[in-house]
Amino acid sequence: MKQSQQQSRDLIKEAVMTNAISVQNVVRSLYDRPELGGEEYYAHDVMTDWLQNNGFDVTKNLVMPTGYLASYGKENSGPVIAFPAEYDALPDIGHGCGHNLFGGISMLAAKAMQGVIDATGGQVLVVGTPAEETFGGKIEMVKAGIFDNVDIALMLHPGTKNGLGAASLALNPVKFEFYGKNAHGCRAFEGASALDAAVLAFTSINFQRQYLKKDCYIHGVITDGGNAANVIPAYAALEYYFRAPSMAEALQMTEDAIRRAEAAATACGCTVEHSIYECPYGETLLNEKLAELLQAEFVALGLDEIQPINYTPRGSTDVGAVSYVCPTIQGSIKICEDDVVGHSKEMAAATISPAGNKALTVGATALALVATKLLYEPDLLQACKDEFNKKKAESDA
Ligand SMILES: [Zn+2]
Repeated sequence: MKQSQQQSRDLIKEAVMTNAISVQNVVRSLYDRPELGGEEYYAHDVMTDWLQNNGFDVTKNLVMPTGYLASYGKENSGPVIAFPAEYDALPDIGHGCGHNLFGGISMLAAKAMQGVIDATGGQVLVVGTPAEETFGGKIEMVKAGIFDNVDIALMLHPGTKNGLGAASLALNPVKFEFYGKNAHGCRAFEGASALDAAVLAFTSINFQRQYLKKDCYIHGVITDGGNAANVIPAYAALEYYFRAPSMAEALQMTEDAIRRAEAAATACGCTVEHSIYECPYGETLLNEKLAELLQAEFVALGLDEIQPINYTPRGSTDVGAVSYVCPTIQGSIKICEDDVVGHSKEMAAATISPAGNKALTVGATALALVATKLLYEPDLLQACKDEFNKKKAESDA
């Protein structure tokens, strides 16, 4: 390679500065027109047009109507680096999770990589993954094999802190449907109440909580319990999330709950069926080597108060699915102070504030520099993969 790593690093910084304003405009236009998960048609068009106009090969409407893939560089010419991009918003509060900026950082990082890819070979991808907040577009992309040839996935989520990523919980969404027999309320002995069975199951699953391990959660609601007080309900339904640090544990909790639901149904002369009613989310496999590399770039770019990897899982994310296919990091970048809560209008406003604009350029630079290091230093890339393979093997065991 004639172009040294230092020259590539300088090129990245230049390219970020040259293209910052035009990506800022994209981020702002998404802020002005927030769309819910799966309905991000405007964002899809604005982002894919921008990428096409900026030298990427773009496949629109990929896997999902609002999914897309943009690539730069020759296939099979070296490592493939992916920057997943999110762009879905929330009801009423718009881009309160900052996914407009999330997507912008990925686009700008990929654009900045072009001059590097020309020198090193390899490919850079922007994977447009819709609906993080609802059905988890990344899971669909993973299922469709879009990440199969990806060596490394890098992304940054805007928030109140600079950070190197966090564990997330596996989530198994299970629906229980109880079937009994209708009867007049005054002749209940002629029927069997599905509602009784559902309430008994709900109570029994409440007892299950005593036996949960650390960082495991059960949340459930009664979604159907009959319609008229004078009718013995023939149908009732419960919806649950079973969350745990690993999918194996979440499935174990589910098994326990199924047993309880079946016992409750039998006790009430009913039957029960269970199904997965939303997309299950795997936990995130963290990559410490990637975190180390991101930290070094954050520090070099002058960011402070960088939070180490948070190993205490809180929510669940579809990033987990990607993290099972290739070494993955989702760091965070600060756009506002601690008193701003996630999923708020204030968070949305911060994405287009001066701090948001700074996060766009610093974040894109950091991601592109990590990617560049991996292209120039195959040993580092291998170290990330070794860690990934080891953790995946442990988790599959
Ligand atoms: Zn988010």
